Amino acid sequence: MNDHTLKVNEESKAPVSFIEQFIIDDIREGKNDGRVHTRFPPEPNGYLHIGHAKAICLDFGMAEKYGGKCNLRFDDTNPVKEEVEYIDSIKEDIHWLGFDWENREFYASDYFGKLFEFAVDLIKRGLAYVDDQPADIISTQKGTPTRPGQASPYRERPAEESLDLFYRMNEGEFEEGSRVLRAKIDMASPNMHMRDPIIYRILKTPHHRTGDTWKVYPMYDFAHGQCDYFEGITHSLCTLEFEIHRPLYDWLVYQLKTSDYRPRQIEFNRLNLNYTIMSKRKLLELVREGSVNGWDDPRMPTLCGLRRRGYTPESIKKFIDLIGYTKVEAINDVSLLEHAIRDDLNLRAPRVFGVLDPVKLIITNYPEAKVEEMDIDNNPEDPGMGSRKVPFSNEIYIERDDFMEDPPHKYFRLSPGTEVRLKGAYIIKCESFKKNEGSGLIEEIYCTYDPASRSGGEAAGRKVKGTLHWVSAQHAVNAEVRLYDRLFDHEDPAGQKEDDYRKFLNPDSLKILKGCMLEPSLASAKPSDKFQFQRVGYFCADLDSKPGSLVFNRTVSLKDTWAKMRK
Ligand code: ATP
Ligand code: MG
Repeated sequence: MNDHTLKVNEESKAPVSFIEQFIIDDIREGKNDGRVHTRFPPEPNGYLHIGHAKAICLDFGMAEKYGGKCNLRFDDTNPVKEEVEYIDSIKEDIHWLGFDWENREFYASDYFGKLFEFAVDLIKRGLAYVDDQPADIISTQKGTPTRPGQASPYRERPAEESLDLFYRMNEGEFEEGSRVLRAKIDMASPNMHMRDPIIYRILKTPHHRTGDTWKVYPMYDFAHGQCDYFEGITHSLCTLEFEIHRPLYDWLVYQLKTSDYRPRQIEFNRLNLNYTIMSKRKLLELVREGSVNGWDDPRMPTLCGLRRRGYTPESIKKFIDLIGYTKVEAINDVSLLEHAIRDDLNLRAPRVFGVLDPVKLIITNYPEAKVEEMDIDNNPEDPGMGSRKVPFSNEIYIERDDFMEDPPHKYFRLSPGTEVRLKGAYIIKCESFKKNEGSGLIEEIYCTYDPASRSGGEAAGRKVKGTLHWVSAQHAVNAEVRLYDRLFDHEDPAGQKEDDYRKFLNPDSLKILKGCMLEPSLASAKPSDKFQFQRVGYFCADLDSKPGSLVFNRTVSLKDTWAKMRK
């Protein structure tokens, strides 16, 4: 199976990431019998964000590509911060991205028994001891990278004594923080993580799965590698901050190992996006403090937020492909993500007319009672998407900024005495307009149309410089449209002084427009349906949108609209 997959992939000659190269080498060397088995290990303490998607695409993607498997393993070693709500959302988001863990849904807590046994074994072998000192003392004794640590006075206590205390810690006899279990490794190691790391602590909060069975809980470092080992993971892919933990990971696995099999940890750079934050703690604060409307607020970098905003799984994968996997930390430009969704929606989103800031336009020589059905292409990029009928009548709406009473040079939209084409319909000429003298606002625009200029007709080829989108007033459906901008107005809000990120929240990140006028085909739009409002941007119907009270989110604005429309 793997030989075959390897060959197929080699023939494709596509460049591979350094991680994929490691995997290929391992398969070729027959390591772990040529198996590829990865895992995605989220901590259920928040919703997944686009950074997690980078890890998911790699973990599941490599397994898929090399005929392997990928487990979903919830890293639920800390009962204090974790909730079931998060577990459900994490599963939904992974499925949405198009990946599946089959029946391999695991929890670090499934292994609490085995991990406890392993800790007991380490104590018996003189490789772990109970330390009665508080955490702050332990941490000052650790020394610095250039100065060796100082041994705890409990380091040499007899194994039987540590064993007895460890059991009693788990029976609830001692207060939280009063004692810990430490691995006995090397207080002089240049790697601080090897200086007798804490591997178990006392926590009395009940656990969402194991209730109050346990009063001691393993630390992340003690759980992660061992869980990989118990599950037969071959490639444990994680972000760069764990590189420094790798010697400890290897040390613990070595102590556990009973055969030649061993999991290999490989680190890659995190995904960071400018103008946003990725820390789950901070995202939770934004939600709790009401700075956004929940985890799935379309301004959030969460997967549910991006989904609600109108992002597709394909666009997110494309973006992740573009940024790649390296060993160098960087901040990725959000405009690259926007480019990916534009590219994707350009091919699949039907074109429609939506006027966000309507002004009425009356065609004085078009019969009042007449309605024509204009046949308009759904997507010029894809003739297979067909066409639709859009009703046209003597009163229409156009965008307020498509008319100027006193236009500058090279303004190709509508102004007194000039002509434009109404997309898919006729050429019109502006004859006059009505203005509210108090507010200065244009109230109505009066035009005549050229009956011979109907699109597709004989005189249709007559050229005018501007083309406008429009909606027939009597047929229009009313909608609320939400325009989103960056959540922060600082490029690197997370890189500022701790917790200062709140100061950089963009006050204009959400603009709600009421009374937008859309073509009637949108009356039946269902939540998450995606469209290009021509000349305006890509939009999707919001989760809360219903017939009669339509709500659309702008996913991303359009670029280069004029160049396209003038054709
Ligand atoms: P926390 O902020 O709570 O430490 P985390 O963001 O590391 O959490 P986890 O739930 O521990 O979240 O992450 C699950 C997996 O996703 C890990 O393997 C982690 O390395 C990866 N991951 C998290 N954030 C990113 C990111 N920004 N880019 C790439 N991978 C990430
Ligand atoms: Mg983490």
